[in-house]
Amino acid sequence: MYERERKELIDKLSQKGIWDQAVLKAIGKVERHKFLSKAFHNHAYKDIALPIGYGQSISQPYTVAFMTQELHLKPNSKVLEIGTGSGYQAAILVHMKMQVYSIERNIDLYLKTRNLFDSINLRVHSKYGDGTIGWAEYSPYDGIIVTAGSPSVPEPLKKQIAIGGKLVIPVGNKNSQKLKILTKLEEDVFDERDEPEFSFVPLIGREGWNTK
Ligand code: SAM
Repeated sequence: MYERERKELIDKLSQKGIWDQAVLKAIGKVERHKFLSKAFHNHAYKDIALPIGYGQSISQPYTVAFMTQELHLKPNSKVLEIGTGSGYQAAILVHMKMQVYSIERNIDLYLKTRNLFDSINLRVHSKYGDGTIGWAEYSPYDGIIVTAGSPSVPEPLKKQIAIGGKLVIPVGNKNSQKLKILTKLEEDVFDERDEPEFSFVPLIGREGWNTK
């Protein structure tokens, strides 16, 4: 179902500059409509963010592709995602053969998406909690991807990246953020670069926006 729409979507993403074939292949395979309610199925393969309830959204496919590409992952890498949301980003990583750990702070979304992962047999280690403090138990991670916008880069996440690994995180105010791409060169030493201009829902937590 929707195979032609997925093919058109990957053509559009490569025209927009996505070059990583593993990312494009995963986007061509993962059925994005399954991560959305029925009302949005007909829009699932448009390059737009869409509502997933609870005031949250599934990111635009271009953003998912760009952030994933920036992680520069080899198959079987260990990746931590902050902000499970619909589960679509996690599914892309699983289809790229990564070991995926994902944290969601909204209990209803966590439970809904956990059920979806089980029903479509997607192997994601997911937990409910505040992702701004990371998931130390399974660290270090080859990549950490944060899918909500933060006022700054949470220190616990910097600690939990492996040497040589990358952290991709939107940082800015509540309306717009730059995507920060940090590469851990050695303990406490990072190469850092910014990509403008993205807009995410806020990362709420101890090391993010401290509001309800
Ligand atoms: N990756 C998601 C997807 O593929 O659908 C995008 C989700 S949405 C843009 C961001 C998510 O981050 C929301 O579900 C929100 O509840 C969650 N979030 C916000 N602050 C968080 C935190 N401190 N820890 C974990 N999740 C958080």
